[in-house]
Amino acid sequence: MTHIAFIGLGHMGLPMARNLLKAGFAVKAFDLQKNAVEQLAAEGAIAASSAEDAAQGASAVVSMLPASRHVEGLYLGENGLFSKLAPGTLVLECSTIAPDAARHVHAAARERGIELLDAPVSGGTGGAAAGTLTFMIGGAASTLEKARKLFEAMGKNIFHAGPEGAGQVAKVCNNQVLAVQMIATSEAMAMGVANGLDPAVLAEIMRQSSGGNWTLEKYNPWPGVMPHAPASNNYSGGFMAELMTKDLGLAQEAAQASGNSTPMGALALQLYRLLIKQGKGKQDFSVVQQLFVE
Ligand code: NAD
Repeated sequence: MTHIAFIGLGHMGLPMARNLLKAGFAVKAFDLQKNAVEQLAAEGAIAASSAEDAAQGASAVVSMLPASRHVEGLYLGENGLFSKLAPGTLVLECSTIAPDAARHVHAAARERGIELLDAPVSGGTGGAAAGTLTFMIGGAASTLEKARKLFEAMGKNIFHAGPEGAGQVAKVCNNQVLAVQMIATSEAMAMGVANGLDPAVLAEIMRQSSGGNWTLEKYNPWPGVMPHAPASNNYSGGFMAELMTKDLGLAQEAAQASGNSTPMGALALQLYRLLIKQGKGKQDFSVVQQLFVE
């Protein structure tokens, strides 16, 4: 294997690329934010001046970008990476994007003999740093086997969700549950504290009881309950509310396409849109807590 091109060194991409380096892969990285590239270069990566520069001669490309339009912009079109990559190149597209956009990108890759997987992740920035992400993968099982070592360097649970786009379907289902849990936890925390409970005591009781869930385990939305959670750091870092809003929109599109009723997901989307209107889109998605406190 020659080098791995890594495109998109944000909250998730930077720690993921770092884990590829730690596992001994040569990584050539690019992000529109120069400082992110410089940071990774200081840790042993090769700095690229463009996505095309990063991908030149790469045996695999990993991308971790915000949304569908960024991914389509990177790979498709006259100047897109698919027109530059050699046939047989592996592409691990790890961003959360619309299942239809993923299928569209898959079709274009197939035409050029490029082996693409849609491989969105779960586990947050903590999981990205620890190399314990869950990957939900859509595409050919044989391609997954070729890419397995790369996934193993960045994650712990590697699931083949099904054919092209299936990884994204799994991801939007998961994030709809996550948003609903975060909102339910936030409103309960606010109610308990307003009724006289210590937030840390309430959080621990619920964590160990039937209301226990991932947000109570890893990501409590009440400031000060978990020192390392974004809530204790003025809701900075983590997973931006605007990205959760995007994912809830994708879940509604999937529900629309299949005719499913998803009232909890629809309500979660409305609440997150409210947060965006309040100017909190760049803060971590646990900032939804603030909707429930005076
Ligand atoms: P982010 O905004 O922190 O990072 C995205 C990075 O992509 C930025 O550094 C940006 O400069 C870069 N970028 C955008 N367009 C580019 C281009 N054309 N070329 C090169 N770089 C480009 O976002 P994030 O939190 O790292 O999330 C990335 C993806 O992972 C999103 O789809 C998100 O929904 C998903 N995700 C995030 C989390 C999380 O906890 N943050 C968890 C699971 C999945």
